[in-house]
Order: sequence, then C-alpha cells, then structure tokens
Amino acid sequence: MPQPTSTPARSRPAGVIRQQKLAPLAERLRRLGLVSDWDFILHLPLRYEDETKIDPIGMLVPGETAQVQGEVVRSQMTATPRGQQLVAQVRDETGLLALRFIHYYADTQRVLRPGAVVRLFGEPRPAYAGGLEMIHPKIRKPVASDATLPKSLTPVYPLGEGVQQTWLRKRISRALLDMQGMEDPVPEEIRRSLDLPGLRASLEYLHNPPPDADAEALGSRTDPHWRRLKFDELLAQQITLREMRVLALAERAPELREPAAGGLIPAFIASLPFRLTGAQERVWGEIARDLAAGRPMHRLVQGDVGCGKTILAALAALRAVESGRQAAIMAPTGILAEQHFEKLCAWLEPLGIRTAWLTGRQKAAERTAALEAIRSGEAKIIVGTHALIQEGVEFENLAVAIVDEQHRFGVAQRLSLTSSKMKDGLKPHLLMLSATPIPRTLAMSYLADIDVSVVDELPPGRTPVETKLVRLERRDAVVGVLRHTVSEGRQVYWVCPLIEESEALDLTPAVECARDLAARLPDLRIGLLTGAMTAQEKESVMKAFAAGEIHVLVATIVIEVGVDVPNATLMVIEHAERFGLAQLHQLRGRVGRGGAKSACVLLYDDRLSEEGRERLRIIRETTDGFEIARRDLQLRGPGEFLGEQQSGMPILRFADLEEDAALVEAARTAAARMLESHPEAARRHARRWFSARAELLTA
Ligand code: ADP
Ligand code: MG
Repeated sequence: MPQPTSTPARSRPAGVIRQQKLAPLAERLRRLGLVSDWDFILHLPLRYEDETKIDPIGMLVPGETAQVQGEVVRSQMTATPRGQQLVAQVRDETGLLALRFIHYYADTQRVLRPGAVVRLFGEPRPAYAGGLEMIHPKIRKPVASDATLPKSLTPVYPLGEGVQQTWLRKRISRALLDMQGMEDPVPEEIRRSLDLPGLRASLEYLHNPPPDADAEALGSRTDPHWRRLKFDELLAQQITLREMRVLALAERAPELREPAAGGLIPAFIASLPFRLTGAQERVWGEIARDLAAGRPMHRLVQGDVGCGKTILAALAALRAVESGRQAAIMAPTGILAEQHFEKLCAWLEPLGIRTAWLTGRQKAAERTAALEAIRSGEAKIIVGTHALIQEGVEFENLAVAIVDEQHRFGVAQRLSLTSSKMKDGLKPHLLMLSATPIPRTLAMSYLADIDVSVVDELPPGRTPVETKLVRLERRDAVVGVLRHTVSEGRQVYWVCPLIEESEALDLTPAVECARDLAARLPDLRIGLLTGAMTAQEKESVMKAFAAGEIHVLVATIVIEVGVDVPNATLMVIEHAERFGLAQLHQLRGRVGRGGAKSACVLLYDDRLSEEGRERLRIIRETTDGFEIARRDLQLRGPGEFLGEQQSGMPILRFADLEEDAALVEAARTAAARMLESHPEAARRHARRWFSARAELLTA
C-alpha cells in the first residue's frame, strides 16, 4: 500500500538513521591519526568515484557504478517485512531508474520529492520488478551543465566514527593548498635516477586524479605517484634508522677480548656434554667480534626453538666475567628465568662463577641479598625477569646485557637493560635472542640498526617432529595416541584455544578438556595451565610438568615460551585452525627436544576458512622457521606481523616490504646519499614523515 510521502517528524520510521552522541571532533580525528596538515595530506583515498560525467540512464550497465541526473517522478514509503523503505523513481530523456533506501536520513524524503531534479551516484542492479535500481545511491545537487562537474575523480577517504566524507575532503583540499610552496625533500638527481615524479604533484594526483587516470594502477598502488609516496616513506624510515645507528656508533663499550691466558671459555666448552654445532660456533664468532670492537654490540640471534641459543648467552656472559665485569640475562617469564638460572649454575658453578637470581616474587630478604650482590659485583652473572629493569637494581659494572625471547619485550624494555652506564662511562653490549624468525626484508627495514645472526642448524640426534592433521571428530583416536605415549614414559602437551574473556571461566575449552581427559584417563595425572591462573600457580604447574610429575599438560597459549621439557614427545593442538602460523610453529617446537621421536597433532574443525586451511597446509609442509615466517608475513602483512611496540619503528602505511623490496634497497642507498649531501633536508623529511608517530621513536 502506498503511504503518504511525508511523515510527521515525531513518528520517525524505523529506517531513519539517528544521530549519536560523539566525542569532540578533534578527538575523533586524533583516533584516525589526523592532527597536523601533513597527517591530512597523507590520508590517502581508499578509492575514487568518477563524477566527471553524467551517464544516460538508458546506457547504465548493471554492476558498473555510474552518475545520473534526472527528475523524481515518484517517491513513497513502502512497508516490507524488514521495515519501512523509501522507494523512488527518477527519469531522464533516456530512461527510468528505481531508487531504494533501507536506511535514510529524515531529510531524504524531502530531497526526493516528485518534480525535484537530483544527481545520483551509485551502482545500478537489476530490480526485482524489472528494470534497474540503485540501492542507497548518493544524492547530490543537480548541475546545470557538464562544465560544472568536477574535473578530477572524487576521492573516497577512509572514515572514522563521526567524521564525514565531505568534511574530510574539504579539510584535505585545504591542507593540499597550504602545501603549494613546499620544496621537494628528495634532491632532483635522486628523483631523476629513480624516475620518480615530484612529491607535490604525486600527492595532488593521488588525492584528485584526472578522469583518464589508470584506475588499475591506482587501485593496486603501482602507479608512479604511489611509488613516489612509498619511496618517501621508506626513505624517511631509512634516514631515521641511519641516524639511530650513527648515535649508537658514537657510543663506547668495553673491549671484551679473549684473555691472553685463554680465560674461562675453552674450559667451559670442554666441560659440556656435547660439541657446539657449526652454526653455534659461527654465531659465537660473530658475537665475539662485536664484543671486542669497543662499540656497543646490538645483535639479534635468531634460531628455531631448540637450536641451542642459551649456550650462546652463556658464552657471551663468560666473556664479560673473564674480563672482570658482569652480565645479565633477562627472560620474559619466571619459569624460563629459573630454567636459565639452573642451567647456568650447573654449567658455571664448577668454574667458580657466582650467578644471582632476581624475580619480582622473591622474599624481601632474598631480594635484598641479591640486589647487594649485584651492586657489589660479587654476583657475576645475573638471571632474572623484568625485575632486572626495575628501580633499585644497580649493577656494579654491567658489560653484557642479554635479552632472551626478545620479541616478548617492548623496545623500551630491551633498551632499558643497557641504560646503566658503567663507572668508566662505557655502555653495555646488547645481545638479543629470538625463536621468532624475522624475514630478511622486514629485518632490513625495521631492524636496520641491529645486526642479525642466524643459528640455522639443530644439534645432532634430533628426530624431526612429525606433523599430522586430524579432524576434530577423530579426537577420540588422538586420546588413544596420548594414552600410548604416556605408557611409554613420555609426556604430552595438549593446547586449547583461548576464548573470549567474557565467557565464564570454568567453561573455557582448556578447563573442559582437562576435565574430560581426567575422566577418561583416571590413572594419568593431568595438569592445567590457563591465563586465569596467577603467575605463581602457573609456575608450580610448569615445574611439576618439567619434573615429570604431570603426564599431560592441558594449556591455553600461555604455555611458557622457551621452556625445555625434553621428555615431552606429543603436542596436541585443538582447533589448530584458530592459531597463527608463528604460534603453531612455536608450539610444535616444544616437542622433539630429546632424542625420541615426537609428533604434533593438529586437530582442526572442518569448517575452517580458506586462510586457516592455508596455514595448516604450510605448517604441515615445512618446519623451517624462516620459510614459515615468510609465509606468515605474506598472509598477514608487516603491521600484524611485527607490532609497533615490537619494532620501535612506525609500521609502514604505504610500502609493502615484499612487493616493494627493490624500493627498500633504493631508499637505503638514497638515505645514505641524502644524509651526506643534504643532511638538513634528510632530517626534516624523516621528522615530518613520522611527526604524528614520533613519540614511538623515543620510547
Ligand atoms: P633454544 O635455542 O630454543 O633456546 P636451548 O638453548 O634451550 O634452545 O637448547 C635446547 C637443548 O639443546 C638444551 O637442552 C641444550 O642443552 C641442548 N643443546 C644446545 N646445544 C647443543 C649441541 N651443540 N649439541 C647437543 N645439544 C645441545
Ligand atoms: Mg631459549
């Protein structure tokens, strides 16, 4: 039934959009990262709309976005099962087009009154009743002639809550106008050698491309104007990194060389029950060279779980000790710190070296004693958690700071371990260890101030972990495998996905799974480790597992990183499709640490997404952490892969490290040249580019 075309304002139909209460505009903009003119200028369109011409209604093609202009011939409210809709028809000389609004502003009906001429922008589709219709077209004021239409494509910007497209367009245009007199930060000869357009021209082009612009190249960001922007971004990044590096090079650190008498290291290596792998020897050589150079080492050692990075930490620490100085090793969790402590004590006590231990949960007397031993220099090697970087910790003369599982710490935390200067004004060396490999392109741009070593070899005698994909319905069969594994004297990890925090705690998959396994396997000891437990509870469960007192450890992802339980040979991951690649790889690395044959069972839900399927395929096919990291970077992109917190560098917004690898190289070279020839312009460029995010760099 047709309804009257005007509704009294008081009884608003259901489809009318209501205004909400919003934060002040400046705050809303800040959330979008829009503060300075430059921020607005770099807020680039998501896509464009071609409003430069009017399309005749008779020529519309379904699915092809178009702009039409015509007279409203009908407009009415229609009741549908989904609520009231506003339906209208417009006509030009060539045909008739239907319009439909499921949501609309109260004003829309007035604008679409019969007889009114309107300009519409939208995507025509076949209408149910025949002919074509546009759903939610944009309505604009009619133009008298084509001459008054825009001369360039209309940008469509990403919006935040309560920020309007038209407002943003005006604001950005104004910022672009203000930029008129801006000099190009990149010297002409560099621009020419890379065949890059000017910066201002590029920005203007990207905000307002001409009607004949290559839509494909704009969309895929391969247009030369896009390349210019990506280049500038990478250039700013490389300049910043270089500057950080120059600052770092100006610092002095103790020259730690092998003592003439041979020192502690040969004896230590001789005392080990195994020989160093070739990779361990090579990386130790790289570390030793850094330590002797008199400049603070800034080295990241990457290597898959179980490749033996701890020994490298021990060697670096010994080099400090044999030159009469201290070394500190910081680990992300109490249990891991304790494992390191025990291992180091076992290794080093025979050599007469005093190792101290510091966590946040020591008894007051114990802590005071540890702090005193650290301050007096009596403690040579100090192992601990974040407690090492808390107030009140004073080293006598810390020469080597080691951060294990460095990706678990923020940049600021990593650096603060080296912030204590020694009595002679020297800075400590920094060694970082990580089992999360960072692909080369990523390392080059985010970690350019860091040298990277790779331990690409596992100790001999390890049998590779066999990875099996099993559908969730066959979980019972996996419980059978578990029973068998335990009957052979081995232990098992069973990992469940984390769920929404809001769900009742005792219904989490991990808790349920532990109950279920306990009911089915009454003669086995089942342990439970979840995020809801206190650190102390977690630690005691982990310890019991490490001691073999627990057969099956059911856990959420909180399984403590780096923990070494060689007797565990089976890892079951339930709902494996919900885990990320890096997580799966890390979890799998928990088994296969002893000589025994180990397996990783990935229980997956058949209704998984395409990406989930791809992840499982990758993890089954490869055990190479670097290959997995590379695929992960491809699947997720660097922003996800390496958080800002993590890298200390703003995440790239425009450049793609894989796709634009050649530009990364070009930017590296150009940064060096610019800092030589136009140092001021170079610094200005970097500062401006990262202005809104600058605080990150000083973290
Ligand atoms: P990660 O690199 O994951 O930190 P760890 O340092 O914990 O690895 O070493 C894993 C296990 O391998 C430890 O039990 C360690 O003692 C042992 N290990 C380290 N290097 C060797 C080696 N060269 N030969 C045999 N076993 C080794
Ligand atoms: Mg480790």
